[in-house]
Amino acid sequence: MALQEMASVCTFDCPDTCSLAVTVEDGRIVKVRGSAAAPYTAQVICTKVARDMAAFVHGPRRLLHPLRRSGPKGSGQFARIRWEEALDEIHRRVAAVIARWGPQAVMPLNYAGPHGFLAGDSMSLRFFHRLGASQLYRRALCGGVRNEAWVGTYGAVPGCPPELAEHAALNIVWGNNATVSNLHLVRAIRRAKRRGGRLVVIDPLRTKIAEQADLHLAVQPGTDTVLAWSVAAELERRGALDEAFIARHVLGAEALLARARAWPAARAAAVCGVPQDHILTFASWLAAAQPIVLAPGNGLERGRHGGSAVRAAIALPALIGKLGRGSGIVLGAGNAFPKTPDRLQRPDLAPAGTRTINILDVGRHLAEDDLDPPLRAVFIYNHNPIVVHPDQNRMRRGLAREDIFMVGIDVTMTESMAHCDIVLPAATHFEYADLYPSYGHHWLQRAEPVIPPQGEALPNTEIFRRLAARFGFDEPCFKAGDAELMDAALDAADPRLKGLRPSQIPTGRALPMTAPDGRPLVLFDTVFPATPSGKIELQSESLAARWGAAALLPDWRERHSDYPLRLISPASDKRISSTLGHLPGSLRAPPLLMNPQDAAARHLLSGAEVRVWNERGEVILPLVVSDAVPPGVVASEKGAWLATSRTGQTISALVSADMRADLAAGACFNDTAVEVGPL
Ligand code: SF4
Repeated sequence: MALQEMASVCTFDCPDTCSLAVTVEDGRIVKVRGSAAAPYTAQVICTKVARDMAAFVHGPRRLLHPLRRSGPKGSGQFARIRWEEALDEIHRRVAAVIARWGPQAVMPLNYAGPHGFLAGDSMSLRFFHRLGASQLYRRALCGGVRNEAWVGTYGAVPGCPPELAEHAALNIVWGNNATVSNLHLVRAIRRAKRRGGRLVVIDPLRTKIAEQADLHLAVQPGTDTVLAWSVAAELERRGALDEAFIARHVLGAEALLARARAWPAARAAAVCGVPQDHILTFASWLAAAQPIVLAPGNGLERGRHGGSAVRAAIALPALIGKLGRGSGIVLGAGNAFPKTPDRLQRPDLAPAGTRTINILDVGRHLAEDDLDPPLRAVFIYNHNPIVVHPDQNRMRRGLAREDIFMVGIDVTMTESMAHCDIVLPAATHFEYADLYPSYGHHWLQRAEPVIPPQGEALPNTEIFRRLAARFGFDEPCFKAGDAELMDAALDAADPRLKGLRPSQIPTGRALPMTAPDGRPLVLFDTVFPATPSGKIELQSESLAARWGAAALLPDWRERHSDYPLRLISPASDKRISSTLGHLPGSLRAPPLLMNPQDAAARHLLSGAEVRVWNERGEVILPLVVSDAVPPGVVASEKGAWLATSRTGQTISALVSADMRADLAAGACFNDTAVEVGPL
């Protein structure tokens, strides 16, 4: 049969949301490359997606039929069953839980596997809202801290599109492993450098983008707030603050500067572990360059002071009045789209007073039964909790409980699915239509299926439609087709949709989310702060109201630990978090990077296997001694599956699930203290 090339979109949890051209032969994917449909991603995609999609869709671990567990939880022993049997058993067992404990004993445990509006959470949340299930606060796992910091400071607005980086005289990439997880930003920055622009990278790890930087500040993890304060104080000392801009547009500058002045460069350098003159150089470049673009990543948020770090970093452009006219902050892209989540997900269906559970607490609630009513039925979808949650051993104990009924919905037999009682096969994003916003750029896309659902797999929307029918939910919203769901996801009256219903958006051409006059959405050019005061709030009453009085201003305190090394967990170029972790590129444990000073002190050599441990767990990893990490810091890529580990634990086992960031009660992956020693 002839080869056919069809338009699609990459749905993985990645800010770039690339447009794809997929070559199909006899209903099978044979090649995936980038397409020109989204001008920002412009025919370039990452190696893992270009290489691995045929194995992801058609590989031996692909789930093709409903399954019932036939061995102990986690054993991976299952027997094939029919869809009707699976739905009947789910209904019977969940109904029994509700009869005994009430509907809040049921909970969805999902995250961001696919990012389309439909597969992400549409019919699924309608179902759980109508059921009266416990609700889940998901953003604490990732992104919530950064979002709270952004919205608290600037409001729910877009900062600037990443395309602005191409014309910046100074790009600042802060806590952002951009080469691996923000690919197209790197292209824009390279172009800016070819035009003579400079690049500053702030990251404990000498990432690939850091190797290309004119200045790399290898800060100790968790000290970014101090660095930003020190730079702010130095900008003031140099007379580089834009007093007129501050007077007109900024609230709380003096309060923030009062904290910043306590951190002259010499003092900050000692805490941050960077040379004093690097801090001064960064400040002088910030003062001189016009325009500047700041692109903070997720690395910055993953510690006890994560919210403060993001707030202090994004305060710098405000203090020097460099917003608009080519300058900007690459954050808040999700706010560029006219989303209508209440219509899509129908929270009005949930009974008043339904409890909400922080996703980071789920492992404890499952393992320790500390809720009333306890959790007795859990639906895991779009998520691989046993690999990605902090405190992996506690999560594993929770998932292993035989008295908690678990339903799994996934594309692949993951180690989390292996703990479920019933597993339902989900379609991949190549097998259904969906609508795609982005959290990294301002282009809206739609895709049609390029192949039929494989085996008996079904799109998430259809799985939850069938579940709703089996539970007797007969309201019209549970009969909505995928086109109706798309139309509920966005405001069709928004002029940027050009009169099209969302379900009619052409598949081969992304729609730009611009200002009414067609110009890009850039703060202080075409959009303005949407905070309660209408100003940039460096001091935020709303954050204090949501997260406690200490959140009024960015804060930082020295913390001590019983273990001497800080473990950070950057993204891998072979996986998207844990997705694709079963494919050949990810079958071995990722290395642990350690500075030569720390290795020498422990008599450890590159190539050796080492123990990495703390009070929560122990992981065995191959060691790479490298000055890519500073003294006191070790790094190992996140998302490796348990099968790669000789102890059956990965680095998530070492991360506390109880330590919380100062905003969003967020996870502290990069605030993990460990010791390392020989086997
Ligand atoms: S994972 Fe990210 S960079 Fe790779 S194709 Fe998907 S959206 Fe693009």
